[in-house]
Amino acid sequence: MRIDILTLFPEMFAPLKESIIGRAVNGGKLEIVITDIRDYTLDKHKKCDDAPFGGGAGMVMMAQPIASAIEAVDKNHKAKRIYLSPKGRVFNQSVVTEYALLDRILLLCGHYEGVDQRVIDLYIDEELSVGDFVLTGGEIPAMAVVDAVSRYVDGVINRESLMQESFSAGLLEYPQYTRPQEFMGLKVPDVLLSGNHKEVDKWREQEALKITMQKRPDLIKATPVSDDKPTKKNKKQK
Ligand code: SAM
Repeated sequence: MRIDILTLFPEMFAPLKESIIGRAVNGGKLEIVITDIRDYTLDKHKKCDDAPFGGGAGMVMMAQPIASAIEAVDKNHKAKRIYLSPKGRVFNQSVVTEYALLDRILLLCGHYEGVDQRVIDLYIDEELSVGDFVLTGGEIPAMAVVDAVSRYVDGVINRESLMQESFSAGLLEYPQYTRPQEFMGLKVPDVLLSGNHKEVDKWREQEALKITMQKRPDLIKATPVSDDKPTKKNKKQK
């Protein structure tokens, strides 16, 4: 999968060089291309934002540098073009599995008061929000999308981890324990030390259901996300 990120602040993406995502990129499983929108401005002072028409606080990212950057990286519209925005569809695990089927996504990060509406009207396939709150820019939301989607790219993480984790079967995950067997007076549940895999599975299922009922009863009613890794069958790309 190729992920293009368009931003005025490319240095903010340094964390993607680390850990699992960094290894996936170095191992050729994932391609992440970060483009500095400022490189595409035609303004002689490299300006990329201006005051909003109609007045009001803050600055708006100008259409021209963004349009030129999109044309440069995705001339033939092969990528699904996503603008990170508090006004968008709310990101969740079913959006993750949907995006994971695509060969290419492009993430446009806004900043300041956001981008000129004409960029959205002309170039963007979908606006995506990471939640009902406002951040200073789309860079942190873009990193969340890259991280969550990359986990579903072949070979990035163990397939079993994807099948058993929170949201994969419409439930939150059961509690996890590791050594030591006793910590500050709290013991690991006996069943996990029993070596009886059938009993362990049963306990985990019960715990997952219990925790979900306590913390997120809404998930029980919602349509479950498939516990299978997404396949490219019936793949749709806008
Ligand atoms: N004026 C905009 C509004 O009221 O909807 C908010 C602009 S925000 C300060 C600047 C940028 O941060 C946005 O253009 C967007 O790219 C990003 N952003 C902020 N909150 C976000 C969220 N919840 N989800 C995704 N992107 C967000």
